[in-house]
Amino acid sequence: MPASGSPSLTAPPLDVDAIRADFPALHQTLYDGRPLVYLDNAATSQKPQVVIDRVRDFYARENSNIHRGVHYLSQQATEAYEQARETVRRFLNARRRTEIVFTRGTTESINLVAATFGRSRLERGDEIVVSAMEHHSNIVPWQMLCQERGARLRVIPVDDRGELDEEAYRRLLTERTKLVALCHVSNTLGTINPVQRMIADAHGLGIPVLLDGAQAAPHLPVDVQALDCDFYCFSGHKVFGPTGIGILYGKEALLDAMPPWQGGGDMIETVSFERTTFNELPHKFEAGTPHIAGGIGLKAALDYVEARGRTALARHEDALLAYATERLTAIEGLHLIGTAREKTSVLSFVLDGIHPYDAGTLLDRLGIAVRTGHHCTQPLMQRFGLPGTIRASLAFYNTTDDVDALVDGLHRVRSLLA
Ligand code: PMP
Repeated sequence: MPASGSPSLTAPPLDVDAIRADFPALHQTLYDGRPLVYLDNAATSQKPQVVIDRVRDFYARENSNIHRGVHYLSQQATEAYEQARETVRRFLNARRRTEIVFTRGTTESINLVAATFGRSRLERGDEIVVSAMEHHSNIVPWQMLCQERGARLRVIPVDDRGELDEEAYRRLLTERTKLVALCHVSNTLGTINPVQRMIADAHGLGIPVLLDGAQAAPHLPVDVQALDCDFYCFSGHKVFGPTGIGILYGKEALLDAMPPWQGGGDMIETVSFERTTFNELPHKFEAGTPHIAGGIGLKAALDYVEARGRTALARHEDALLAYATERLTAIEGLHLIGTAREKTSVLSFVLDGIHPYDAGTLLDRLGIAVRTGHHCTQPLMQRFGLPGTIRASLAFYNTTDDVDALVDGLHRVRSLLA
């Protein structure tokens, strides 16, 4: 892969061409034949052929409901789904398979914890600590819960670089704090938060911590035992898997003590009109027929990432982020939003005198997919006094050519709109 544009950075040591060949969506042309430059990976990532094939094969040959059938197909499907759970366990280095709950995604995982753990523990006057860089899905469920319980949301401030104020964080932790809910990586700034330290601070006061790993799981190795977090959430569609499938990891003792959430099939042990007893973990939290193909597809995605080498992929992304940062900051009138010392794969920026939406629309006509707007982090936008940003977010299949195309596109935008 040529590292055109910047002689100061060496080409990342990864066979990106071979990787790109695995992703059919990357090889299309848009509009008047322009090749797609996909830089919206923080919203969702593209899928390798092995994931597409696995989902198709499931529906073509194995389709059956799980956990209930004695027949061949049902047993096959159940085994495949439970193997997927084991793959997720390994991906997160969780202690037990029973700690892995399948959900629809990060949003549902957080809502599950709010509705069960939160509702059963929160009382009037209690507090939940979040940060100013949270995605709406790690704000609104807690806000709704606080309103219901007469509790209060406390917010860790963010500095101009896009780093959390850890001093302020420690001051927010009191005997009233019942939970800290924090993103591992910010979807808008790319900041990697010092979660290990922050978890230790919270645990020092006996406060459990939920990590929103939606943007971390696609980029960083995640070890829930080393982190010692109490809950960890991520979405399948951002880790090269299907939409509609996600994960809630929870420490067994916490999950065990939590009441169930949705009622229905599979989450019960026995039902009578007098009394229902609930299934064991993790099924207690998995009411109804799940997204079986999604879980199985997620396994194929995680296997793919593992086979390609998580460390090698991350190294490539780091080099690409450095390259993109250098090239973007050289553009006159461009201001990066989010310059944390620990960052991954997200470049949010504004251009003097140009509305992000106009820039995004023009880039799109050039075949370049970026995201514009508030990125579901309106409080963070308010903190920076911005209506929105342009966000380019990278994955391991992106190249310096993609970055160069973005830079050329931005020069074009400036020449037309500035
Ligand atoms: N948290 C973060 C940090 C995110 O980036 C996102 C998705 N943009 C979510 C939560 C929500 O994920 P999902 O829509 O897959 O539930």
